Amino acid sequence: MSAVPAPALDPDATIGILGGGQLGRMLALAAGRLGLKCHVFCPEPQSPAFDVVRRVTEADYTDTSALDRFAADVDVITYEFENVPAEAAAFLSVRRPVLPDPRVLATTQDRLAEKRFIAALGIATAPFAQVDEPAALGAALDTVGRPAVLKTRRFGYDGKGQTAIRNGTDPDAAWREIGAQPAILEAFVPFEREISVVAARSREGAIECFDVTENEHRDHILKVSRVPAAVTPAVAAEAQRIAGAIVQAFSYVGVLAVEMFVVKDGAGHAVLVNEIAPRVHNSGHWTIDGASVSQFEQHIRAIVGWPLVAPIRSGRIEMTNLVGSEVLDYRDWLALPDAAVHLYGKASVRPGRKMGHVTRVIRDHSP
Ligand code: AMP
Repeated sequence: MSAVPAPALDPDATIGILGGGQLGRMLALAAGRLGLKCHVFCPEPQSPAFDVVRRVTEADYTDTSALDRFAADVDVITYEFENVPAEAAAFLSVRRPVLPDPRVLATTQDRLAEKRFIAALGIATAPFAQVDEPAALGAALDTVGRPAVLKTRRFGYDGKGQTAIRNGTDPDAAWREIGAQPAILEAFVPFEREISVVAARSREGAIECFDVTENEHRDHILKVSRVPAAVTPAVAAEAQRIAGAIVQAFSYVGVLAVEMFVVKDGAGHAVLVNEIAPRVHNSGHWTIDGASVSQFEQHIRAIVGWPLVAPIRSGRIEMTNLVGSEVLDYRDWLALPDAAVHLYGKASVRPGRKMGHVTRVIRDHSP
């Protein structure tokens, strides 16, 4: 992919972050600890990241004069969400280095392109079929079988834009349910558990993976991550190999997460990739309090051209998301001596909104 900037940036450099959510906020906090400055660009007022950075631009991603001023103020640009409009990324990348390379977004913004990319690497996914129009759904169901999951190709997250097709489900109703738009049909995976690996790749091509994380979802939203995942060493090694192969194939610079399913396969297990997130990821939040280097710092190190480090985990870890009104119990969490409480500073509580998280580390005191 594109040439990466040289030389490495100095600690007083300014990082531009597209997106002002909690991921941008935690990236900026990690950058700040290293002396780096941040400028966040985000269209939404009162964005969580605005509170912790030196400069903010509150403007739309189509506002080219705002993008131009933003680019002029920063040394490197990164993003905290995968739906960065392609035009904005292209506009910025001729002015400043944008890392990871926005061409990765073309693959990861489209579930079909993403699945094809993964399959081309020889990595397993659920069987899938392209469904561009309702007429194609019948044939796709014949290929993939039922139960299946119909997902929009673009702009899906936290279970949005997807619906299950079971034995009795009317395909036309499922098509309408996802908003009658280009989709992908995937076989339903009878997974034993869901895991993820957060991997980092430096400008020079060094790769470091965090330990495999096990993820429990509630209403399609991540609720709890546990580390280490309760998987065999062979499954853990395979999951990290897959994440490493993906960052390598993208010539990726920064942190990326790969969500996977673990399924029973005869006497052993198989690992199937569900999704790639070209950014820091909720299932990696435990690394702030539970590892020698966080996913956020690792990402910052990669994009400014500093060396990555092999993460050392501090113990067994449980990270719990505070979703919607659960955040109102923050005082109960604050009372627990082993709980690291993170509140994202969001102005209003809404159902399903990620408001904060808590990490508990059970330290291994053995010598
Ligand atoms: P996604 O938006 O693709 O990450 O899906 C959100 C959640 O839906 C996943 O974490 C799984 O729990 C579930 N899911 C998605 N795709 C499948 C599938 N093909 N089979 C079984 N469960 C799935």
